[in-house]
Amino acid sequence: MSGASLAAERLLRETEGLADEAFIAAVARSFPGRIAFASSLGPEDQVLTHLLMAQDPGIPIFTLDTGRLPEETYELIQETRSFFGKEIELVFPDSAEVEELVRERGPNLFYESVDNRKACCNARKVLPLKRKLAGYDAWITGLRRSQSVTRGGLARVEHDAANDKVKINPLVDWSREAVWSYLRAHALPYNKLHDRGFPSIGCAPCTRAVRPGEDERAGRWWWERADQRECGIHVQDGKVTRRRIEVENVRAPRQA
Ligand code: SF4
Repeated sequence: MSGASLAAERLLRETEGLADEAFIAAVARSFPGRIAFASSLGPEDQVLTHLLMAQDPGIPIFTLDTGRLPEETYELIQETRSFFGKEIELVFPDSAEVEELVRERGPNLFYESVDNRKACCNARKVLPLKRKLAGYDAWITGLRRSQSVTRGGLARVEHDAANDKVKINPLVDWSREAVWSYLRAHALPYNKLHDRGFPSIGCAPCTRAVRPGEDERAGRWWWERADQRECGIHVQDGKVTRRRIEVENVRAPRQA
């Protein structure tokens, strides 16, 4: 059992039953200078930024800039920096890795097969995150259990086996309604695409609006099976993508 795994178990035990603010304060105290928040600028992340700024404004915040984000997300990054007076560091992929992938498989490779999509996510998200996390013992995310079928087993504190770090998901029990209620009550900035039917926003070519009644992450990699729709940065111990990829060479249907 690694040190990170033991630390995760201990923290989970010590913080059981704590309310959100007390939990975040305890997390910040447990990893002074060794923890960062990986924000994807979703509504959960904006709520978490607000909570973190109240408990420990020194915790660094970064986001993965894949190079394929929608313009509205860059606008939100700018707005968020101003609103909180806090730097949102942009973490970029390794240009040589992306260039090689694009040279070999094309700029829109992700529509051609699940393997291609995962290779793109790996180069633009998974590897940059791994490099960034090398400087920390723990990281914070805005994941919630009810976001999709792939996230039902999340815990508030986990061991991120892929990176051997402690992973903290403070909003794991929050509902979508609770997130939006908090966001509106505090007039926090949010991505304008949410007002156009995009409940979950990732890279521009891999995100579409959802239809009434659809899962809130149904617009992410919509051409793939629901239980495969994770980019890889939140997959651990086979819990999210346990099943072997069965669908290959799937062409993307036209967006609705
Ligand atoms: S979401 Fe799409 S564009 Fe973004 S890294 Fe993954 S496959 Fe590439």
